[in-house]
Amino acid sequence: MTDRKGEIAANLARVEQRIAAACAAAGRPREDVTLIVVTKTYPASDVRILSELGVRHVAENRDQEAAPKAAECVDLPLVWHFVGQLQTNKVRSVAGYADVVQSVDRVRLVTALSKEAVRTGRELGCLLQVALDAGESGRGERGGVAPGGVEELAGAVAAAPGLRLDGLMTVAPLTGEYAGRQPAAFARLVDLSTDLRRAHPAATMVSAGMSADLEEAVAAGATHVRVGTAVLGVRPGLG
Ligand SMILES: *Cc1c(COP(=O)(O)O)cnc(C)c1O
Repeated sequence: MTDRKGEIAANLARVEQRIAAACAAAGRPREDVTLIVVTKTYPASDVRILSELGVRHVAENRDQEAAPKAAECVDLPLVWHFVGQLQTNKVRSVAGYADVVQSVDRVRLVTALSKEAVRTGRELGCLLQVALDAGESGRGERGGVAPGGVEELAGAVAAAPGLRLDGLMTVAPLTGEYAGRQPAAFARLVDLSTDLRRAHPAATMVSAGMSADLEEAVAAGATHVRVGTAVLGVRPGLG
């Protein structure tokens, strides 16, 4: 057996160095940026190792996989983020283990999440997923609300019992005017966050940047980076 813990520890140290260097380059304190490790396709045993190594935030993108994994790790002091496209029929399950849902992109989902949060008495943090490839109306290819829809959706979350509006999230677009232009995409998200905080001052989270572009995200002002492969390795197959 390979030393999985040693491997993950070495990867984590490299990612930590990258975040620290990006913060230093941007003149930001290191504690401005929170690392979220995306554990999709990797087993609960890896989540346990991450916890032992001091990771406090993990993320998953498919309920089918996340629900049993979270159940196996229920004894660990972890904050669970849900970052995948979310169907309303999965809301009951996701609301059972997620602390933060980063992929809120439509009012129907807000209504369903609020109902579950109230039913279970658990407050759910919500990030609005912004689709920078969606134009000013409509939705993105991989989910997300268009920039023009952020204000209305934010109002819906803020008014929904059991939900807490925490901020904005994006995935760098593969198509459209921001394709391949991460710095511009992340700068746009940060501008939208500035606008959002005028009406919702507590919605300070800006979740952007992954293994390949976390430096660009930190430079632009991201508060949370979501890193999978750089910590756990290249995922087998799709993920
Ligand atoms: C998989 C995933 C990540 C992590 O991507 P890596 O390139 O493995 O770092 C981040 N955000 C979301 C929404 C993801 O689905």
